[in-house]
Amino acid sequence: MQAYLDAVRNNVCPVCLDAVMAGNQFVRCGLPAGRKCPVEIYLPQVVEVVESVDSWLMDDYVEALREKVCAFCENSTGDFCALRLQADCALDRYFMLVADAIKEVDTRTNAVNETAGIP
Ligand code: SF4
Ligand code: SF4
Repeated sequence: MQAYLDAVRNNVCPVCLDAVMAGNQFVRCGLPAGRKCPVEIYLPQVVEVVESVDSWLMDDYVEALREKVCAFCENSTGDFCALRLQADCALDRYFMLVADAIKEVDTRTNAVNETAGIP
C-alpha cells in the first residue's frame, strides 16, 4: 500500500484544496484535527475498485466506488453523503486523479515484474 500512498501524496495532495502548501511544495494535510482523509482511510478498497473495473467510462469507476466504498463509509446514509454534496470529500473530488495514480503504480509494478520474469 505504501507505493499507492506515495503516488497519492505526489499526484493528489499537491492539488488538493485541503493541503497546506509552501509555494508549490506540499507541506501537510490541512484537514481539521479529528478528520482523516477518505483517500487514506479507504485506500485498500479504492485500489480494489480501480483494479476491478476495465472501462473507458469514468461513470463505471464511480459506480464501483459508490458500491464498494461509499456504501460502507460512516459519512453516508444510504445513497446520501453530506460531504459529497458539499464537495468536501477529497476521495470523491479527486477520484480521477486517485485512480490515475493507482494505475500508474500498477503499470510500473507490472513493467518491473515483466523485466524480472515474474508472472
Ligand atoms: S485531504 Fe487527502 S488528498 Fe487532500 S491533502 Fe489531505 S491527505 Fe491529501
Ligand atoms: S463521498 Fe461520502 S460516502 Fe463516499 S467516501 Fe467520501 S465521505 Fe465517504
